[in-house]
Amino acid sequence: MAEAGESPVLPGRSRLVVLAGPTAVGKGTVAACVRRTHPEIWISISVTTRKARPGEIDGVHYHFISDAAFDRMIADDGLLEWAVVHQAARYGTPRAPVEGRLASGTPALLEIDLQGARQVRQRMPEALMCFLAPPSWDELERRLVGRGTEGPEERERRLATARTELEAEQEFDVTIVNTDVENACQELVDLFRSGTSRAHPQHFL
Ligand code: 5GP
Repeated sequence: MAEAGESPVLPGRSRLVVLAGPTAVGKGTVAACVRRTHPEIWISISVTTRKARPGEIDGVHYHFISDAAFDRMIADDGLLEWAVVHQAARYGTPRAPVEGRLASGTPALLEIDLQGARQVRQRMPEALMCFLAPPSWDELERRLVGRGTEGPEERERRLATARTELEAEQEFDVTIVNTDVENACQELVDLFRSGTSRAHPQHFL
């Protein structure tokens, strides 16, 4: 029996959790921790038109595809959502694998950008939208511009983008503060178990 206030994941109706948040907040690291520690949670592999970085494996980190192949997936309604990220490349979530996992009762996680998260909310309103927030503005600033390799204009552009991205927190159902990766990872995993309500207090704004 579930305790009061909890809604257990029912067979055939498992939960879809969308993890989004500002650039440099550490979404990828938190998702990697879930992958390592909770293999029972399926994590969607996105398609992207960007080139693989050293060490990235096609079909593991992303499906690296051509612009033409990406166009075909859009035309065939093969993407649950897609977006141009950092004005550089297109990224998208293949629709069929997500639907297949949910139909078979497998908990599914999407780690995507804010534009994509908004599209998923439209298309799958039952998805739980989780915002990964930095512990503080100063910390985000450090993570964004910490390497100091950017000029003042690029630095300002990144900070301005981050401010806008932080405002999106209010659109989300829950916030996880990424002070510590292992803790954030555990909180994310707990979302698949608990019936977290949409009334979580706002962290940032
Ligand atoms: P990177 O190129 O560093 O791997 O990822 C850049 C950004 O793209 C990250 O913010 C990541 O969340 C986002 N991203 C990765 N996959 C997808 C996707 O399928 N859809 C969307 N909308 N964003 C994605």
